[in-house]
Amino acid sequence: IHTVRDLIHHFPFRHNDFAHIRKVSELEYGKEQTVLVSVWEATKTQLGGNPRRASTQAVVGDETGNVRAVWFNRGFIADQLKPGTKLVLSGKAGAFRGQLVFESPEYEVLRGQELDELIHTGRLVPVYPKTEGLWDKSLRNYIRQALKACSHQIEEFLPEDIRHREGLMGLQDAIGQMHYPNSTDDANAARRRLAFDEFLIMQLAMLQRRREWKEEHAGVALEYDSAVVDGFMRSLPFPLTKAQQRAQDEILRDVATDRSMSRMLQGDVGSGKTVVALAALLAAVSAGYQGVLMAPTEVLAEQHFLTVRRLLVGKGSYQGDGPVVTVQAEWAAKPIKLGLLIGSMTKKVKTGMQEAVSSGEVDILIGTHAVIQEGVAPPNLALAVVDEQHRFGVMQRATLREKGVRPHLLAMSATPIPRSLYLTLYGDLDISVLDEMPPGRQEIRTRVVQPEGREAAYEMVRKEVGKGRQVFVVCPLIQESDALQTRAATEEYDKLSQQVFPDLRVGLLHGKLPLKEKERVMGEFQQREMDILVATPVIEVGIDIPNASVMMIDGAERFGLSQLHQLRGRVGRGEHQSYCLLLSDSPGEDARERLRLVERLQDGFKLAEEDLRLRGPGDYIGTRQSGFLEFKVARLSDTDILAMARREATRLVDADPDLQKPEHAGIAGAIQARQQGVADFS
Ligand code: ADP
Ligand code: MG
Repeated sequence: IHTVRDLIHHFPFRHNDFAHIRKVSELEYGKEQTVLVSVWEATKTQLGGNPRRASTQAVVGDETGNVRAVWFNRGFIADQLKPGTKLVLSGKAGAFRGQLVFESPEYEVLRGQELDELIHTGRLVPVYPKTEGLWDKSLRNYIRQALKACSHQIEEFLPEDIRHREGLMGLQDAIGQMHYPNSTDDANAARRRLAFDEFLIMQLAMLQRRREWKEEHAGVALEYDSAVVDGFMRSLPFPLTKAQQRAQDEILRDVATDRSMSRMLQGDVGSGKTVVALAALLAAVSAGYQGVLMAPTEVLAEQHFLTVRRLLVGKGSYQGDGPVVTVQAEWAAKPIKLGLLIGSMTKKVKTGMQEAVSSGEVDILIGTHAVIQEGVAPPNLALAVVDEQHRFGVMQRATLREKGVRPHLLAMSATPIPRSLYLTLYGDLDISVLDEMPPGRQEIRTRVVQPEGREAAYEMVRKEVGKGRQVFVVCPLIQESDALQTRAATEEYDKLSQQVFPDLRVGLLHGKLPLKEKERVMGEFQQREMDILVATPVIEVGIDIPNASVMMIDGAERFGLSQLHQLRGRVGRGEHQSYCLLLSDSPGEDARERLRLVERLQDGFKLAEEDLRLRGPGDYIGTRQSGFLEFKVARLSDTDILAMARREATRLVDADPDLQKPEHAGIAGAIQARQQGVADFS
């Protein structure tokens, strides 16, 4: 907080409803409620949780009775609660041994004067996010003073007609009511107004970007050779699904025009996005241009490289076994050069590849975003495909633009993004959806396995291997570091190969292995020279082994539902009944409920909706790039406000595309401020 503006935009995360303080005798089980009490006694005790950390246990009361409160693992609170201290407690009252007890309630120690103020004002009192050493009380004072002194300087930037049409509170009121609302309704109306602003600005910025991408930066109209694209399609061992066909038509139509394509190809795991993307890349190559395929991880980039090589070669041949291969396909008049470029390659290899790309020699470059970050400049780039767009797409778009290249852009995502979210995150992309699976996919039987079921799960693995099937074992997700993740996988591998399945052929795959080694491991697994593949969660994407029938995920509770769904999609790709076992050592109630959803739901979209409901949008976002962390007030669940903002944004842009009318100056300024303040906001 640097300025007065920062200060008054520092909003409370909730309000204490001091207007509705209950008496202890009025408390009800299981409800959020607030009491004003005095402390009788407070002690540090050992209670459950971490044995090394003390908890606080207190008896408090008012003139109508007493109630207990506990704070697990927070022994320090006891020090603040001297007998006689006045205290406001807010939270749910539960029952313990027939007595009412507040479990880890919000609390506020009152000093005499403040008590007076709070009660006699009889209002909703803001509780602010704050760092240690900063008191609510001080923050309230500062903010209140700032509001008093400066509120009148807050300038309304929304045109009257929008406010009127959507029934929005004025900005000055809204900011005041965010802090000190007259009522809960007013607090909600204030929040609604400010959330609307955030959504509106974001939508407008998106629409603007999309227009710029499409209009100002004219792309290349690809005069592609349909014989090449068709020849490739015919060489595939399967016909395209209707959805794939439709997506392909949409994409080819886009790239044939000189407006840069900006399209998202969305489809559940296994819906067959790769061949669609590859057809588009071939269109670019056949028109005499270059294409890049970017992946979020090295493993995935390498897999793409190998998959693309395999798909292109078909019955033809290829030369070279390093990061550059020359493919002579039956259906192509000219050989096609494929390149791989990832961060972990040696400097020498990278330099070589960059030269091959810069000279225009490489037709299709596959790699991680190192591809664009480390100074590769394909001189004839016409199409950029970005896989798993939800992880890092925005930055790439910006970088591509900075380089002055205006390629067509195809983003791919397997994360089934709920429609509501889609508009928010990717409103600036057109969308093609693969809503149909290739024929013959099996329903995957999914089971949550409790700790006592581990042995039985191993038995089942053994049985499947006995039938000639293969098994994936994914080790628990460790977010902190690659090194830890590698260790976890190695430990799991040691355990399984030495203790549990010493008689079976067990392999290990993790991100730190060199490409050759990964290629060897995956090759062996593909050739059925290995029964069980222990892997880090990186195999989440891309691997295709039809003979694999079991996906066993250890530490399943650490994964997001969508991630579990993606992993599950690695099996059930052949003719065999397949299984997904979700091992979980200590699932709490919440974790168990989430895992049961994966058991019950096969549809990625439904799971995503549930995931969103249970966990909030975090899983879809992952990085700052999505811009969501920049929202102070809006939440993704505000779908009605979002729809409203979208409506108004479209209306605005239709009426005044460049926001040049005087009544739109305020909005234009807000967009600019936002874009300057948040460099990679998108
Ligand atoms: P994803 O959409 O998850 O990236 P992939 O492109 O990896 O899916 O495709 C999954 C598997 O399905 C691959 O083995 C691919 O060859 C196969 N496949 C793709 N399209 C079809 C189709 N139309 N019919 C049968 N199999 C297909
Ligand atoms: Mg894929």
